[in-house]
Amino acid sequence: MAVLPIITFPNAVLRQRARKVREIDKPLLRLAHDMIDTMHANYGVGLAANQVGVLKRVIVIQLPEEEEPRIYINPEIVVREGEREVEEGCLSVPGYIGTITRSILVRFRALDSTSKLVRLKADGLLAQALEHEVDHLNGVLYIDHLKSHEALRELPPPGAEDAAEPKEAATEVHAV
Ligand SMILES: [Zn+2]
Repeated sequence: MAVLPIITFPNAVLRQRARKVREIDKPLLRLAHDMIDTMHANYGVGLAANQVGVLKRVIVIQLPEEEEPRIYINPEIVVREGEREVEEGCLSVPGYIGTITRSILVRFRALDSTSKLVRLKADGLLAQALEHEVDHLNGVLYIDHLKSHEALRELPPPGAEDAAEPKEAATEVHAV
């Protein structure tokens, strides 16, 4: 298990389409577990393989209230329903958050770490994270969904905030 360096914007790997996984073997599962360690070390709720420089269709997600991380291989969003505005951040675009439109509900399918087909219907943060991570596998970043420059906001640098002040929106926005 290892914490891997996170690739950040504008590295070209983030713009490439990840390839479908043909075999869920030991090296692939090691990658998935390293991605989980990397997500945990950076307090993210999700991570796509592109973000650690690997162009394979693997994502990991763990919502704040969940005890176990999820590993999804060859994930696909099959249906998107509705639209809502969300605040979003990304471990590959550090220091910023943006307001974008995501789906209210998604239907999703993927293989899990045992090669079993998983189908699920998701809303809320899970739907947002699934859309965000599948976008990564297609070379898309959340900043591509911004409607204007004003929709992107810079966060204060770490350590800059006065300890006496309550933390701002950054603590409510989960980086993925
Ligand atoms: Zn991201």
